[in-house]
Amino acid sequence: MKSINLNKIKDKVLKFISTQESLKDIEPIQWSKDVLSGKKKVVVYNSNTKKEGIYMNENIMNKTGFKKEVELVKNNICPFCNTQIRLEDFRGAISLKEFTISGLCQDCQNDLFD
Ligand SMILES: [Zn+2]
Repeated sequence: MKSINLNKIKDKVLKFISTQESLKDIEPIQWSKDVLSGKKKVVVYNSNTKKEGIYMNENIMNKTGFKKEVELVKNNICPFCNTQIRLEDFRGAISLKEFTISGLCQDCQNDLFD
């Protein structure tokens, strides 16, 4: 989504390793029988969507004078163009993730990011 600052990584030494090498310390997760058979599901939580994170951000926004924008985002309205957010408009996981951070609709994200 956001462009990478190449100056920050230009002095890094890149080392290419094989998939086998990169996975050597990885332990497979021992899922229960119920999960493997599809009887139970595994829910993966993203740190960006954790409730505490959202509330903390909201408090900062309220204090810095973005109270109106916070209310709009809470009501699923894009704070830039004031249109109702429709989750089906998002193009993919990256756009959805950006929405959980900024509350911007897909159109405004398209305008804002390269
Ligand atoms: Zn918008």
